Amino acid sequence: MAKQKKDRTNLLALTGAAALLAVAVSFAASAINSHIRGSNVRVSLSAAEILRLADRVIAKSKQVHDAIASVPLDKVMYANVILPMEELEAQQFPLVQSCIFPKLVSTSEDVRKASAEAERRIDAHVSICSKREDVYLVIKAFAARGEWMSPEAKRYTQFLVQLFNEVSVFVLGDEGCWRVGEEEEAESYSILLDFERNGLNLTLTKREELQRLRAEIEELCMRYIRNLNDDSSYLLLNEMDLVGLPPEFLKSLNKADNDKHKIVLRSHHVSPVLELCKCRNFFDTSDGKLTYCPCRWELGICCLRIQVENLAILALGLCLTYRASSENIESPVIFSVPQFLVLVGLTRRLVAVAYGRRCQVNLSILEKLVQLRHKFARLLGYSNYAEYAVDVRMAKSSSKVFEFLEDISASLSDLASRELTLLKDLKKKEEGDFPFGVEDLQYYAKMVEEQQFDLDFGVVKEYFPVNLVLSGIFKICQDLFGLRFEEVADAEVWHCDVHLFSVFDLGSGELLGYFYLDMYSREGKYGHTCVVALQNGSFCNGTRQIPVALFISQLRKEVGGHPGLLRFSEVVNLFHEFGHVVHHICNRASFARFSGLRLDPDFVEIPAQVLENWCYESLSLKLISGFHQDITKPIKDELCDSLKRWRFSFSALKLKQEILYCLFDQIIHSTENVDIVGLFKHLHPKVMLGLPMLEGTNPASCFPRSAIGYEAACYSRIWSEVFAADIFATKFHDGLLNQYTGMQFRNKVLAPGGAKDPVEILSDFLGREPSIQAFVDRGADFS
Ligand SMILES: [Zn+2]
Repeated sequence: MAKQKKDRTNLLALTGAAALLAVAVSFAASAINSHIRGSNVRVSLSAAEILRLADRVIAKSKQVHDAIASVPLDKVMYANVILPMEELEAQQFPLVQSCIFPKLVSTSEDVRKASAEAERRIDAHVSICSKREDVYLVIKAFAARGEWMSPEAKRYTQFLVQLFNEVSVFVLGDEGCWRVGEEEEAESYSILLDFERNGLNLTLTKREELQRLRAEIEELCMRYIRNLNDDSSYLLLNEMDLVGLPPEFLKSLNKADNDKHKIVLRSHHVSPVLELCKCRNFFDTSDGKLTYCPCRWELGICCLRIQVENLAILALGLCLTYRASSENIESPVIFSVPQFLVLVGLTRRLVAVAYGRRCQVNLSILEKLVQLRHKFARLLGYSNYAEYAVDVRMAKSSSKVFEFLEDISASLSDLASRELTLLKDLKKKEEGDFPFGVEDLQYYAKMVEEQQFDLDFGVVKEYFPVNLVLSGIFKICQDLFGLRFEEVADAEVWHCDVHLFSVFDLGSGELLGYFYLDMYSREGKYGHTCVVALQNGSFCNGTRQIPVALFISQLRKEVGGHPGLLRFSEVVNLFHEFGHVVHHICNRASFARFSGLRLDPDFVEIPAQVLENWCYESLSLKLISGFHQDITKPIKDELCDSLKRWRFSFSALKLKQEILYCLFDQIIHSTENVDIVGLFKHLHPKVMLGLPMLEGTNPASCFPRSAIGYEAACYSRIWSEVFAADIFATKFHDGLLNQYTGMQFRNKVLAPGGAKDPVEILSDFLGREPSIQAFVDRGADFS
């Protein structure tokens, strides 16, 4: 990796006018030069150095594991079993990350390749270690001795014996491709092992069976995802079929030889169609006249509707079937429109059905997957797979997850019914007496949003120049959590756009940690936004190791003197990710295992989601915004108000849709032999207030979360959002910049990391058990 000096221009330099703003923050630059005090992260290794370091890390890890394995079982002590494990983890983590993170950000292809190879070697080593029965027996013998330990050390020992070893994780890429999640990988490396969930307490035969099942499960997951990624189905539609879609969107579509537009069955095409396509394809229902007939046999048959209503509907149905099966669909999907009652809203329905029936072959794969997962869990002593998956999470049991989802769903029913009635009334006005279906939800919700909020996101964007937003986020985090950020001058970095900041405690001046900001997109860089822990905090043998984080994003850089402007979703995303940075830096756990971002997945997103709330409050929005041509003018009150109402518009209905998938996921993973097609059909109207599943679709065949590491854990996103809402409403809503509350949050929620039980952490901060009420109420307040 080429060592580069960064541009001396202060990343956050603001114009003179910014001094007028409360957001103008002064970042004193302290010259520390290339040596970063307290950081063992190496940021400028060459390809050869990366591979050498990886081999040294592996050799050292093997040496420590051998030493632990050689301790006689009657001589096991904290000092010769647990301490060496902890020291190994704390010391090696920054070195492992030094080998692996260049894969994400290096400007040199050779370095990125070497980094990927280093990762492969370390991966293989971890896999071998995870099967070392000799080490497991020693740790187990120590745990059985019951030697007195601090609560954190005890928790650490339990983790060592039992904890999970995650299989590959996938995330959704920009192009809608599901793939291995490098973010999670980069964060989750540990030279330590989690024995019992790997089956090391089982007999050899059962252990072999477990390995076989694991391999089979991984293979099926890969196949499920590959089918989705390889799916190239599309529809060919006339321009008139796509009425309502913006000209830029239409221009962006490829065209077939017959001049028809190609709608690829992926979210970047499907979502705009479902939101915007007016598709009054056949009749202008307001006066009953035929305005457009897209079918090829056409006018005569369609016009029958005007004379004989029922007959016309039948005739149209035949036309549509012809179009769909023989002309429009050029893809592996064999497709027809089985219903003939759909006259208006046809394109939306056509697209929604085609989208919902991709990859039929995945149904049998999912069935098989679920069976194998149950088998896997039973071998490990669990009654079903959901119990196995949830056991190590904050929710603790599958029954708690059901209770949680059902409570939320029931509490939202009244609000969701009111939202649905509003949409149905609109459809009646627009299309007449046709039944409302799930394919209508996005279109009419969007229509209401446009009518009610007057929210032009193009205008909103003009208030969010990237530097101003960043300095605003910095200012809020510093004030709220009693921190001071200082840019490190002349720090060694991998690209001139990268900046390094030290973080100090405002009161004591203690150095708490560092974070690198690598904000702008460039060739060869990892294509997603994420935070990577480069060094974990720890307190070992009287020495504190400080945390170091890396924040990667894909923002557009200032061009020709014009500031890069952020979309509102990017602003929210920045706040969210910055929540992870602050969480990492403020961690005070003694064990590196409990630092970092490798915390309970039900808990780790909560602080970041708490911080998202600052993006919807007028006071804080004004601190992070300024009109790009005159940044002394912050965003207007009306826009702030619209953004807040927009956030909660149709929130109950949207959440019900998500709950539907979460329930499906939890049921198939907690019950044997479920008919997965029938289950979806059954659940849909139950959860979605009577709306049936779209005929002809099979949502289970294109449900990637069931194969990418979220199986039996889809509820987790709602879970963390619910408790983040509780924290915000209870503690911060009336004191957005209240440093006392911020410090309480820092000390009670952020500082313990994984060293304490998450429910205990939240209860300690809230002064009571966490509750769903604030989450339920907040949507109702804006309905
Ligand atoms: Zn997050």
